[in-house]
Formats: sequence, structure tokens, C-alpha cells
Amino acid sequence: MEILCPICKEKLSLPQVETGGQQLAYCSKCTTLVHVSYERLVTGTKVWEVRMENHPKRASKKNPNKLEDRVISILTLGFLLFLIWWFYQSCVSLVAQ
Ligand SMILES: [Zn+2]
Repeated sequence: MEILCPICKEKLSLPQVETGGQQLAYCSKCTTLVHVSYERLVTGTKVWEVRMENHPKRASKKNPNKLEDRVISILTLGFLLFLIWWFYQSCVSLVAQ
């Protein structure tokens, strides 16, 4: 089963709804959590129930994480530059001896 995200119309894939009875899916675009449950009644009627959750915190959390990643990559780059400088310095001192 595929549905469109009710907020941003991004396509969400829910392949196990009709076999498992229910499934969760995250919208990759707007971080809305979509919960779909499926039930087949004795009369043959099929019932789908869609529930959505969107936490503003989840969406705003992305920025600090990205900043953290950036800081880590800058620190790693700085450490690599320091290593290169250190190797260069030790090579220079070896040549000088
Ligand atoms: Zn969405």
C-alpha cells in the first residue's frame, strides 16, 4: 500500500499494512510519523485508519545535529592538518640531522 503524506504529499510506502494489520512510516520530507492500521470486518468491509504525528522538536533537532557534524568534521580536518604538519616537521628535523 502506498499513501501520500497528508502534510507535504510525499509518497510513503507501507507494504505490510494489509498483511500485518498496521505499519508506521516516516515522511523523509517533513518528518511526519504516519501510522496506518488495517482491519477487515466479518462483513467484508475493509477499514483503514490513518494517524499522523508531527513533533516540532524533531524537525528543529536537525539543525543542531548538522552543526555538530560540521564541528566534528572541522576538528577532524584540523587534526589531520596537525598530523601533516607534525610529520613535515619531523622529516625536516631528520634531514637537518
Ligand atoms: Zn511529509
